[in-house]
Amino acid sequence: MSASDSPVSNDLFNRALKLIPGGVNSPVRAFRSVGGTPFFTQSAKGARLTTADGRELIDYVCTWGPAIHGHNHPAIREAVAEALERGTSFGTPNPYEVEMAELIVDMVPSVEKVRMVNSGTEATMSAIRLARGATGRDKIIKFAGCYHGHVDSLLVKAGSGALTLGNPDSAGIPASFAGETIVLPYNDLGALQLAFSEHPEKIAGVIIEPYPANCGLILPQTGYLEALRELCTRHGTVLIFDEVMTGFRIAPGGVQEKTGVTPDLTCLGKIIGGGLPVGAFGGRADLMDHLAPLGPVYQAGTLSGNPLAMAAGITALKLLREGDPYKRLESSAKQLAIALKLAAANLGVALQVPQAGSMFGLYFADKPVTNFDEALASRTELFKPLFQCALDLGVYLPPSAYEACFVSTAHTVNDIARTAEVLTSAIKQISE
Ligand code: PLP
Repeated sequence: MSASDSPVSNDLFNRALKLIPGGVNSPVRAFRSVGGTPFFTQSAKGARLTTADGRELIDYVCTWGPAIHGHNHPAIREAVAEALERGTSFGTPNPYEVEMAELIVDMVPSVEKVRMVNSGTEATMSAIRLARGATGRDKIIKFAGCYHGHVDSLLVKAGSGALTLGNPDSAGIPASFAGETIVLPYNDLGALQLAFSEHPEKIAGVIIEPYPANCGLILPQTGYLEALRELCTRHGTVLIFDEVMTGFRIAPGGVQEKTGVTPDLTCLGKIIGGGLPVGAFGGRADLMDHLAPLGPVYQAGTLSGNPLAMAAGITALKLLREGDPYKRLESSAKQLAIALKLAAANLGVALQVPQAGSMFGLYFADKPVTNFDEALASRTELFKPLFQCALDLGVYLPPSAYEACFVSTAHTVNDIARTAEVLTSAIKQISE
């Protein structure tokens, strides 16, 4: 999509650049790693975005994960409209919060009690504080390439935008904060065992994206998550699954349902908001009861449990529980992964397309990527022309080599077939 095709977006971006740092309210939206000017979205419906210049794009970003039912789903819109009639925020408990808690507890295996927050970042920040408060320990373990939002102590070797922009460690974080964070390679059991033996009774929690999806998409090797669970139990360390991305996407109960590995705490976000700003963290009741007002771990939020956001999220979760679209979602993602692999193989391009449920990633690499270093070693320079070529042909992939692609229930058989065609021709173009 050239600059001359997008005069309205370009004008908006020029205005935004003067007023908003980098012209965007979240860095990866600036298209820095794929080049060009970001398009502005005027409206979105189903699997499609309509740009401010009137172009329709088949969308595989799905608002970075939440839009599992596609954009502007009529049932979610209706639920929000109905809630709106009653008011936008009360500052008291409201009935939606109870229904939301019941749904989450019912659907997510590890969650006995849950607290709502306003973003995934708040969820991980609060879960870490809870792990520290409950254990009386300070250190936490995270894994290179896993992104848990922009929490100070977790923005160390993070994925997502921090990785794309080449500044995994942000300015403004005291070294002493990051000093309590031990960063380990994913899928390396030896490194995990060593960390536990070097810091006996010091590690409050281990936070992990059970399927890391902020540096592409990496899957656990057989037995890895099970061994992590066993080590945490043995050392009295709180195991936190960050399922902000994978929760309700990989299965109704996320990766923990899929693998049978149950964490102590779970962070949620994205899909549970149905497109509105929501996060949640929950887990074992005895741990959650350390939170104020029952316990000494403070955590709060003016808009937490907001009725509009709850109404949207409840509807999104019910659609998943009642419609059980997971097989169909997975088959669409699989079809795209197969098309990409076939196109690459025919043209001699080394491409890996890891896929889990309705998510897939792309690595220009000879063999499957099992950790962050291998993700970094992939030929990311090939992603930029692939992205641009797909965009020219009407398919919007995430504007970074390190983000996962998402399929929604609104992607039709025709959308998938058209996308397979577009990606095949994009691979052809970059291989020439
Ligand atoms: N955790 C994971 C796994 C994420 O993918 C993200 C965001 O992409 C977050 C946490 C942070 O969520 P939010 O952007 O809502 O703060």
